[in-house]
Amino acid sequence: MDLALELAVRAEAMRHLKSRLEHDAIYFTRNEQFEYHGDRLRLMGAQTGIWKPRQLSAALSISTTFTPPSRERPYDDADIGPDGLGRYKWRGTDPEQADNRALRAAMTHKLPLIWFRAFDRGRYVAIYPVYLVREEAEQHQFVVAVDAVQQLDSIDMTYPGIDIQLAYASRETRQRLHQAPFRAAVLDAYTCKCAVCRFGHASLLDAAHITPDAEGGLPTVANGLSLCKMHHGAYDSGLIGITPDLTIEINHDVLNEIDGPMLRHGIQEFHGRSLMVLPKHKAQRPDRDALDLRYQQFLSSSSTR
Ligand SMILES: [Zn+2]
Repeated sequence: MDLALELAVRAEAMRHLKSRLEHDAIYFTRNEQFEYHGDRLRLMGAQTGIWKPRQLSAALSISTTFTPPSRERPYDDADIGPDGLGRYKWRGTDPEQADNRALRAAMTHKLPLIWFRAFDRGRYVAIYPVYLVREEAEQHQFVVAVDAVQQLDSIDMTYPGIDIQLAYASRETRQRLHQAPFRAAVLDAYTCKCAVCRFGHASLLDAAHITPDAEGGLPTVANGLSLCKMHHGAYDSGLIGITPDLTIEINHDVLNEIDGPMLRHGIQEFHGRSLMVLPKHKAQRPDRDALDLRYQQFLSSSSTR
């Protein structure tokens, strides 16, 4: 194996993704390509989950197709193991199948990979770098560390302090595997704009939960709002409330505060206005009950009462 080539191609692939995200891409399709020394290389296979460009000996990416979230299974946690690390299934059951060997090569040489995860049919977010740290042959799967810290930690999973480490791994893994698809789905539904102010640079937009994850809020578009960093912060800290009728209200104290142009134009002027951007599809619009619950919290924490 030409390790220098393996690493150089991977670095270029990840640079390409980073640059696309900085230029406000929110998702990728199977047709995404990047350039390496004049060659056009695919980032994902046209059909298969495990992808190895012909120039390489080890797999470059893995992909997971879309499973709609449901009340019973809000997250597809099937791909998170009891140790909090990710899991990725072999192709079929033959360990010597070419794709499985390509994955094993990436594991043996500790090469970084990209994990594409669909949040909708044919649309993927990219999680990278990820590392294959072990193989569970009986279950026909590889163990995936979703960042370099997990990769290092996984070398010795038995030292004292394992509980803290495990909690960290689970949280990080869930966060990275679930948050990115949720964000992409919400931003896409709001055509990459802040619902409050219509600000439109994806790199400064978040998907806010209406009912927080910790309170059982589902990772569905109807439980999300596309908000710019400032309005997300303002919503989460109770400066801004949104009524079930989609009207913006500003905390009474903040409304009367006198400060610079950011407070006046960025916050106060939105008082009493309707959300400026909403999803086209009714089913994706903010859930009224969730909004109501959150708005009651806003009212009770606001000094107007
Ligand atoms: Zn905004």
